[in-house]
Amino acid sequence: DLWQAKGHVNFDDVTFAYKSDRVILPEFTLDVPAGQTIALVGSTGAGKSTLAKLIARFYDPTKGSVTLDGVDLRDLHPKDLRRAIVMVTQEAYLFSGTVADNIALGKPDATDDEIRAAAVAVGADEFIQGLPDGYETDVNKRGGRVSAGQRQLISFARAFLANPAVLILDEATSSLDIPSERLVQDALLTLLKDRTALIIAHRLSTVAIADRVLVMEHGKVVEDGTPADL
Ligand code: ATP
Ligand code: MG
Repeated sequence: DLWQAKGHVNFDDVTFAYKSDRVILPEFTLDVPAGQTIALVGSTGAGKSTLAKLIARFYDPTKGSVTLDGVDLRDLHPKDLRRAIVMVTQEAYLFSGTVADNIALGKPDATDDEIRAAAVAVGADEFIQGLPDGYETDVNKRGGRVSAGQRQLISFARAFLANPAVLILDEATSSLDIPSERLVQDALLTLLKDRTALIIAHRLSTVAIADRVLVMEHGKVVEDGTPADL
């Protein structure tokens, strides 16, 4: 009885402005077939986060429409929208509470087994088990402190558990040590499988695993191709 989105995202002549005197996205058109992984790159202020926020419906277009499987986001039930489209931003990787609580945010009624399975899937189980209180470790307490790479893995476990049709990820800019970088990269591959993904990519390794790379400048796509094309 729950609506199950396939994950086809379309921008049809979308114009967007935060303030009426300054258009950020002018008549933006983009079709993202279900299941495609897109890496979004471009200089600061190009409109990447704005594009991501329109898909997650933090904002509505000034003109035109953004659709999911042909349905205008404005016509979707908020519950269906939240289930279908999940945005992982670098600011919101962790909230106060235990590691388990943080993963369970993806699915409030998740069982301990489901939480653990999500962590296993993204390769986070091992380090979590090594924390002072394992899954019950308070992420804000001393000793519960986790590295940047580990925080990202926890947020990936959360997104994996949520299992959205569309995942939007604003990749962390903070540099990771080499082992974490590998872990995060492997986790990302698992996380992207069988869903549509739009990643604001800061790592070359992420661009390399995308099906398609979009280069944005001043609210427009100036290049659209495979990683090999660019
Ligand atoms: P970065 O790589 O620095 O994250 P970006 O490509 O994500 O940049 P956006 O954050 O989408 O760029 O910003 C695009 C433009 O919109 C910028 O000129 C920015 O100043 C402006 N902007 C972003 N958020 C707002 C806001 N809430 N209100 C007004 N203007 C905004
Ligand atoms: Mg941004």
